[in-house]
Amino acid sequence: MKTKSENQPKFMKKAIKLAEKSVVKGGGPFGAVVVKDGVIVAQGHNCVTLHNDPTAHAEVTTIRKACKKLGTFDLSGCEIYTSCEPCPMCLAAIYWAHIDKIYYGCTKEDAKEIGFDDSFIYDQIDLKPEKRSIQAIHFMRKESLEAFRLWNENDNRINY
Ligand SMILES: [Zn+2]
Repeated sequence: MKTKSENQPKFMKKAIKLAEKSVVKGGGPFGAVVVKDGVIVAQGHNCVTLHNDPTAHAEVTTIRKACKKLGTFDLSGCEIYTSCEPCPMCLAAIYWAHIDKIYYGCTKEDAKEIGFDDSFIYDQIDLKPEKRSIQAIHFMRKESLEAFRLWNENDNRINY
């Protein structure tokens, strides 16, 4: 069930409030909620500095909580409201989680203005791995493929 449009500002306001509370707690100024069938199933905020976890962005934190609550790794049928346009990591997490739709408040340009420059990472993705500022060295492919072979042959695997 899609969120009724009149409820969308309510969910975004919640994400914004979580972002504001995060600042007070010592986290980054980002909040998010995951909504399913018009109900908030999880809410979260940035915990990078609070948990010493560079992956603890608001969206990732909230996706983890939503998956735990719903007992699934697949958030199809869910929507995410985030106080800021997702960074590349969070955007990828949203895709991996199969979330249906993203609503965002601030833009990545707004985030850049206060020191959160993820446009830099977006630009890096377009470069060849060896041209990126963090160099990626490709080696031992043959040995690495063994895990893929095991996966392919595993009839009990859970595709995601
Ligand atoms: Zn992020």
